[in-house]
Amino acid sequence: MDDFEEWVRRNVRCCCCGRNIHGEIVIYRLDKEATWEFPAWSHDLLIFEPDRAVAIICRECAEAGRKPKYAVEWDGENVKYHPVEELRDLPPITPEYLREVERRLRHVFNPEEP
Ligand SMILES: [Zn+2]
Repeated sequence: MDDFEEWVRRNVRCCCCGRNIHGEIVIYRLDKEATWEFPAWSHDLLIFEPDRAVAIICRECAEAGRKPKYAVEWDGENVKYHPVEELRDLPPITPEYLREVERRLRHVFNPEEP
């Protein structure tokens, strides 16, 4: 059994239904700014971007297509839940968005180019 999953099952409740998670842990990536350090996700290319918030949800909620009500933050001991609607929106990561990020990266390395 994975230590991370064990810890999450013991300490984190589903960000949709609020119940303890016994089975599979589903990590839901939110297009919302994480103003904290862990857990968060990003993309290697998105070095100019703030980290994005994560919700932990149970298999049942994932299969039912439920949207998380909370994003989760922890520091290894304390777990905090942030209401999703209070977090700042970030644009979804689409191929167009990645191209825009790439354009900005090129501009940093070649400031002469438009
Ligand atoms: Zn759930």
